[in-house]
Amino acid sequence: MITIEGCNGQARAGACQPVKGAQSRLVERALQWSLDAQPVQSILEDFMAKMRAVQVVHAGGPFEIVEREIPEPGSGMVRIKVQACGVCHSDEVTKQGMFPGIQYPRVPGHEVIGVIDGLGQNVPRWTAGQRVGVGWNGGYCGYCDSCRRGNFFACETSTQVTGVTRDGGYADYMIAPASAIALVPAELSSEEGAPLMCAGVTTFNCLRNSGARPGDVVAVIGLGGLGHLGIQFAAKSGFNTVGIGRGKDKEALARKLGASHYIDSAVEDPAAELQKLGGARVILATVTSADAMKAVIGGLTPAGTLMIVGAVPSLEVPALQLLLKSQQVKGWYSGTSIDSQETLAFSVLSGVRSMNESYPLEQVNEAYERMVQGKARFRVVLTMGK
Ligand SMILES: [Zn+2]
Ligand SMILES: [Zn+2]
Repeated sequence: MITIEGCNGQARAGACQPVKGAQSRLVERALQWSLDAQPVQSILEDFMAKMRAVQVVHAGGPFEIVEREIPEPGSGMVRIKVQACGVCHSDEVTKQGMFPGIQYPRVPGHEVIGVIDGLGQNVPRWTAGQRVGVGWNGGYCGYCDSCRRGNFFACETSTQVTGVTRDGGYADYMIAPASAIALVPAELSSEEGAPLMCAGVTTFNCLRNSGARPGDVVAVIGLGGLGHLGIQFAAKSGFNTVGIGRGKDKEALARKLGASHYIDSAVEDPAAELQKLGGARVILATVTSADAMKAVIGGLTPAGTLMIVGAVPSLEVPALQLLLKSQQVKGWYSGTSIDSQETLAFSVLSGVRSMNESYPLEQVNEAYERMVQGKARFRVVLTMGK
């Protein structure tokens, strides 16, 4: 990384900026080395490009802000200079060790937006300087049986999850497989785009694959990080959108986001209220309460579907009702890179935006606590600030 002019670490993007005095400092250090026999390795290390990263050292451990060398992209990989990274509830998977075989230390973060600043071998199509996003899906092989069937999310060769099995976006730089990146439209700022890489693609991709058609009644349970996007995507998709939340105070927000109806599940029976509207063709469950999901299944139309994106360990379903009415309860994986790219494009087209709270990377603890305690309105984003 030492050049005669010196470089601030952006050289890989072809945007090398001279670092003032680097050359003379190097000469000074070399002279000093000759006097006190300091190992040449430590002199070199002083000039190697470094970055900040937030790592979890072991399952259940605290975040540590450390300095690391900027990683080099291998074959099929790109290096991204991160500009913003969302803080998602699923980051708890890395923080608490809830995924099998996580190797620590690990850098979390799977709602990443940044600029490609380095490419390994065998990366066709992408170029340095393009702004891209990375989500939960950390890439796929393209040749296993699942990939050959088009089920890229279920790639069998390796489980690649951004910020879980590979270091993620709580850092100045990260490495990602080219198969995991999505192009970010110029109209979206990096802070706006970050939460769309997980919360956004999850709700948008779920709704567009739910079988609902424009005009159908589609209900969204929950008005949090996922729900506030789900209502917007449903309304902008032309669905007759119903927001379901606990408390009258959330009605104004639900309507502002595009809901045509609001059901306060604290005082009303949501299934009965949905039936008054003719029943819901699709109910998008963004909550993490099995009881709240159970309470709405009776509100489905015949052949209607409860789509689950909120992580609940188990759910009791009225099997006889499902059978008699040909209804479904279905889980939905968020999506792969092209789904994310289309989520970003649709958000620009339709005006869907995540409502975010932003924090600089150094305030990762505060940012994470806001998210984990459910206090954030509505998504939390870390910004790298340079
Ligand atoms: Zn997520
Ligand atoms: Zn595969």
